[in-house]
Amino acid sequence: MATNKTTILIVEDEPSIVELVSYTLKEAGWNPIAVHTATEAWDFIHRRMPHLILLDWMLPDQTGLRLLGRIRADRQFNELPIIMLTAKSMEEDKIAGLDHGADDYITKPFSPRELTARVNALLRRKTPEHSQSLMSAGGVQLDPISCSVSLDQQKIEIGHAEFKLLKFFLAHPDRVFSRSQLLDKVWGDHVVIEERTVDVHVLRLRKALKEAEHLIKTVRSVGYMLSEK
Ligand code: CA
Repeated sequence: MATNKTTILIVEDEPSIVELVSYTLKEAGWNPIAVHTATEAWDFIHRRMPHLILLDWMLPDQTGLRLLGRIRADRQFNELPIIMLTAKSMEEDKIAGLDHGADDYITKPFSPRELTARVNALLRRKTPEHSQSLMSAGGVQLDPISCSVSLDQQKIEIGHAEFKLLKFFLAHPDRVFSRSQLLDKVWGDHVVIEERTVDVHVLRLRKALKEAEHLIKTVRSVGYMLSEK
């Protein structure tokens, strides 16, 4: 069973960098997984979709740039956030990376703080439900690091699925999502559950939110949204 944490795939062959990056990401509350070649990375993402990839430029079997091109050419990986790691500080290399679809790049050597900041910034931009920032709406506050939710500063009990659902809603306020979109975005595309299950979890989420239950709106014949209005 996949972990609840945000998975970050590190594609890098240099052991000392893998160690530093893994340690830094783990400390920040993410779930890092490292592979050492482009081939392993390609296999990995077909088995399990990471939430972000840190991709080194120089890999033993093919360049990170080439892998980046392959990933972006595949529709299912279009939106996957990717940061290139590069020892090259040449302007044309940075441009080549961005042209091939990298979202950002980090030049080696980098500090743990810079790495964390860049990863967080990209996650916040592309998939805000995976960033580690505090989120709130109408007296409800969610802390992704401690995995806790409070209402008017009082901690509330919430199930695992409801936590993920609330986090997703808080990351995308005032946007309506269909049941199948919620299944896909919150439970992930490898999970087979019925759309009715979404209703069950929404019901439980509202119950957990008590007085703030009105935040989760039913949009008739479409789906659900979070809104303070
Ligand atoms: Ca390398």
